[in-house]
Amino acid sequence: MTSYKLLTPGPLTTSDMVKAQMLEDRCTWDDDYKEMTQQIRARLLNIARLSPDAYTSVLMQGSGSFVVESVLTSTIRDTDHLLVISNGAYGERIAQMAERIGLSYTHYTTAYNTPLVIEEIALLLQAEPHITHIAMVHCETTTGILNPIEAVAALVKAHNLVFIVDAMSSFGGVPIDVAGLGIDYLISSANKCIQGVPGFGFVIAKKQVFLQTEGIARSVSLDLYDQWKTMDLDGKWRFTSPTHVVAAFLQALYELEQEGGVAARYARYAENNRYIREKLAVLGFHSYIDETWQSPIITAFLHPNEAFDFTAFYHYMKSHGFVLYPGKLTDVDTFRIGNIGEIYAADVQSLCTTIENYMGVIAHDKN
Ligand SMILES: *Cc1c(COP(=O)(O)O)cnc(C)c1O
Repeated sequence: MTSYKLLTPGPLTTSDMVKAQMLEDRCTWDDDYKEMTQQIRARLLNIARLSPDAYTSVLMQGSGSFVVESVLTSTIRDTDHLLVISNGAYGERIAQMAERIGLSYTHYTTAYNTPLVIEEIALLLQAEPHITHIAMVHCETTTGILNPIEAVAALVKAHNLVFIVDAMSSFGGVPIDVAGLGIDYLISSANKCIQGVPGFGFVIAKKQVFLQTEGIARSVSLDLYDQWKTMDLDGKWRFTSPTHVVAAFLQALYELEQEGGVAARYARYAENNRYIREKLAVLGFHSYIDETWQSPIITAFLHPNEAFDFTAFYHYMKSHGFVLYPGKLTDVDTFRIGNIGEIYAADVQSLCTTIENYMGVIAHDKN
């Protein structure tokens, strides 16, 4: 087996201890296993600094998108009106889900390389007083932009709205003041900044709002309230849960705590991200997102020149142990480098040296 360093936003490179948890088979109804689920639920609130009196957490089978769809289908009534704010593929997916579910919604978009314009949203909320919910992405993984949820939170409070945040690629790696910002539903998944493996996602929900949503879901499998009701009794999931993934995730949570919590992980990510961007700029790779909005999670780099061949670069990097992430933009040529997961200073240094060598090789070929 070759173990590559995955420089992607998940699935990502996990620790040996996280992987080792998956060597044991477990039963879904066993007390020890159910206790793992309860531990995870409590620890998620703990890392978000939330009291179990006011907040709860629910785990849901599937990839992150399943959990976003679960929140949309389970917590927004036919009589409500959702404002979707988007500047990337994941925000657009929220709008696509709202459409498919049949929700009443408005879609506000900005260009992928710009954050939302808060004045425009303020005007929109005035023009559309029927809006009851706002859903947006925190770190838009398409480009690596970190959207200003703080500014939106102020509008959410002023208009007394329900706030849904897709914090898939930021929760655990970027400090988020869930209570202070008045986030009602925060969504994330096992295989991003908490550094587990893929197979389920989770929602952190404000009880006062969430506990009033019984019976709204238009889906049986994705019924978030029903899932919570069953799980809250003793940690048993409604339907078969991904036992290996759950065990690995609990270990990943311990490791996050051992690292020093979210603040320490954020510091590691931010430093490694800064290092990569600085080194690559010297080689002619510039980031697509302005530094002001750049997240510490993933960076979209513009191709350094017209002749740059990403496929050749990708294969060279892979043969040297690094897996990069292709771009997702249609109008400009980009590729992405994620720096979450078990990636440390030595890894990003070695990454940048390998890229330097590659650029040296192609420069040499040309001469
Ligand atoms: C990863 C991610 C998702 C979920 O994607 P899945 O492929 O369904 O896991 C949603 N939103 C954002 C911002 C993401 O980074």
